[in-house]
Amino acid sequence: TPTLKIENLHVAIEGKEIVKGFNLEINGGEIHAVMGPNGTGKSTLASALMGHPKYEITEGTVLFEGQDLLEMEVDERARAGLFLAMQYPSEISGVTNADFLRTAINARREEGDEIPLMKFIKTLDKKMETLDMGEEFAQRYLNEGFSGGEKKRNEILQLMMLEPKLAVLDEIDSGLDIDALKVVAKGVNEMRSPHFGCLIITHYQRMLNYIKPDKVHVMMQGRIVKSGGPELAERLEAEGYDGLKKELGIED
Ligand code: ADP
Ligand code: MG
Ligand code: MG
Repeated sequence: TPTLKIENLHVAIEGKEIVKGFNLEINGGEIHAVMGPNGTGKSTLASALMGHPKYEITEGTVLFEGQDLLEMEVDERARAGLFLAMQYPSEISGVTNADFLRTAINARREEGDEIPLMKFIKTLDKKMETLDMGEEFAQRYLNEGFSGGEKKRNEILQLMMLEPKLAVLDEIDSGLDIDALKVVAKGVNEMRSPHFGCLIITHYQRMLNYIKPDKVHVMMQGRIVKSGGPELAERLEAEGYDGLKKELGIED
């Protein structure tokens, strides 16, 4: 069974159809990139996968490891092994980063099978080192006063700690300087395994210089209009989206 199988997905916001017949299949440890111009429905797709109540699925199916994802509540999706970078609250006061992570990990485990504290601390130290995060980061209150780059780094820390089966990363590169971008990529690359699939949603190609995708899809007007390998992203970098629009006869 594929990790993720999206078939003929249609998503509407406030009665307006934004995603219009989207198809995608991610198998095992594949990394796929969905690229596209602004306003084509990339974030709408991500929000629909997350189960955001404002986004109405009007048609289509989404299977996560063969299970009907659209029937699952948001927390069920997370427990089943889906990670959505956006689902994390932007600021919660009075909860440290470490507390939040431990709670999130344990929420995904059976009762009585909580992660032992020492193991948690050891794992956290190791992952934070990978991401060049100072030790004090663990004890800081969640996202309070974090810079944009720190928030992104923290999202990747959450990803590495939670070890999901599939991560959907929407514009994870936005607002990152090159050093932060490299650190984020290092984290994702370290996750690579036959048991970790990833959907990277991005407008720009630059992230894909650091995380080599297995497949690249271009989304325009609510659906995939072209798929290929990493060379497709390079072509977009060189020509912009306009060259492809012309080739495919797509008008704005
Ligand atoms: P992308 O992520 O590809 O830039 P979005 O999914 O954010 O595109 O947006 C696609 C379209 O849906 C845009 O026309 C946008 O204005 C509209 N849209 C997105 N979110 C909302 C919302 N919450 N309410 C109304 N319209 C929305
Ligand atoms: Mg946008
Ligand atoms: Mg977007």
